[in-house]
Amino acid sequence: MKYVGAHVSSSKGVFNAVTNAHAIGARGFALFTKNQKRWQAKPLDEKTIHKFKENMQHYGYTADMVLPHDGYLINLGSPDEEKEKKSIEAFIDELQRVEQLGLKYLNFHPGSHLNKLSIHECLDKISHNLNFALKKTNSAIAVIETTAGQGTNLGYSFEQIAYIISQVEDKSRIGVCIDTAHIFAAGYDITTKEAYHKTMQEFDEKIGFRYLKGMHLNDSKAPLGSRVDRHHSLGKGFIGIDAFRFIMQDSRIDNIPLILETIDPDIWADEIRMLISFEEEA
Ligand SMILES: [Zn+2]
Ligand SMILES: [Zn+2]
Repeated sequence: MKYVGAHVSSSKGVFNAVTNAHAIGARGFALFTKNQKRWQAKPLDEKTIHKFKENMQHYGYTADMVLPHDGYLINLGSPDEEKEKKSIEAFIDELQRVEQLGLKYLNFHPGSHLNKLSIHECLDKISHNLNFALKKTNSAIAVIETTAGQGTNLGYSFEQIAYIISQVEDKSRIGVCIDTAHIFAAGYDITTKEAYHKTMQEFDEKIGFRYLKGMHLNDSKAPLGSRVDRHHSLGKGFIGIDAFRFIMQDSRIDNIPLILETIDPDIWADEIRMLISFEEEA
């Protein structure tokens, strides 16, 4: 079973994300557990945590169906000492919030070197800070998102992600989320059956499906290899609809959250229905 869903709003309380997911027929969902544009957030109170868990149970969601996303300001590879320190603190807070909500994963972008560090210095910094944050927390799995490689963002090649994983001490607490729009913009073709299988085989060889903890299903407004991060609704961009059929019929991708971050929330319910119909064709 594929846990298809979308990155839903948690406005006015994280517990609302659960009802929002249910309302669009989602089998899984993503959410922010705090305002993604701010460093600080007030701690989750007991009542909020209780309501979230109650909603999860009521609508039949479990932790492995949910892929929380961290805030946008965090850069674990920041060359600026002050920003790096703030990023580590915020990242630990995000991991703790996930654990408090009884969830399992925290999806994050690896980091950016901002032209002040070499790629390797930045990857080492990210790995070092990850190890530190994982030691300060108990159980949440840090899930590295593949990026488009826009600007100085790292994580646009399977090699870079494999390198970070190789440096993480506790392998049980690290995973990967493939964002289809990002890998496509980074140069990994998935538009034909042959291209899809080649890309996924390369993923398996360099990283390994055992680390795949989630996917973001997005079409791309930017062409293959453009290194530009611009999402589109499924079937409307340069990736096209076939890739999403290949994914929905790939048994290596079962039992993990598959999250839409497409640009028109009004059609998420339709996109989810379409994806589930692809799964049922198989
Ligand atoms: Zn992301
Ligand atoms: Zn994404």
